[in-house]
Amino acid sequence: MAQRGKNVNDRGVSALAAAFDRRAAGAGVTWSAPPAPPPGEVERLGRPTPQRTEVLQALVGCEEFVSAQLLHAGLLATGSRVGLSTVYRTLTALAAAGRADVVRDANGERLFRYRPDDDHRHYLICRQCGISVPVESGPVETWADQIARTSGFADVQHTVQLAGTCTDCVAVPADT
Ligand SMILES: [Zn+2]
Ligand SMILES: [Zn+2]
Repeated sequence: MAQRGKNVNDRGVSALAAAFDRRAAGAGVTWSAPPAPPPGEVERLGRPTPQRTEVLQALVGCEEFVSAQLLHAGLLATGSRVGLSTVYRTLTALAAAGRADVVRDANGERLFRYRPDDDHRHYLICRQCGISVPVESGPVETWADQIARTSGFADVQHTVQLAGTCTDCVAVPADT
């Protein structure tokens, strides 16, 4: 299936792929017809190209954090011919434009999730299946704002991620 970089945790990728399959089987992700990206969204990344639109559309259609490899595999499965490097570049540009949240998996690989508005979010992410849940982060924002105000630093940003084992995965041992 996916072209995999040598640092990619195969089990992590297959767990995410399995999570995709579960959702695709239900009411979740439909790779064949993901929702159209909001108007003007592709233009944020620079010159709108069909490839960028495809990547953005696939990310919007995917409700969980995904690696570039997994998103690329999903795109190929729908007949897209977009290259993995274009997927990487587009995801990175989306993150830089504030339109994707980024977390790192256990191996340090970046996972992306579409951010529909300008407010960043923090997530609790399952190490086994990759499912993610936005969490309330008021105290973190207050603390970060205060540090930013009092430190004299400009453009202070923060990255906070919580990882655990979701209720579904607790019920099913990981290695079976
Ligand atoms: Zn899980
Ligand atoms: Zn925050």
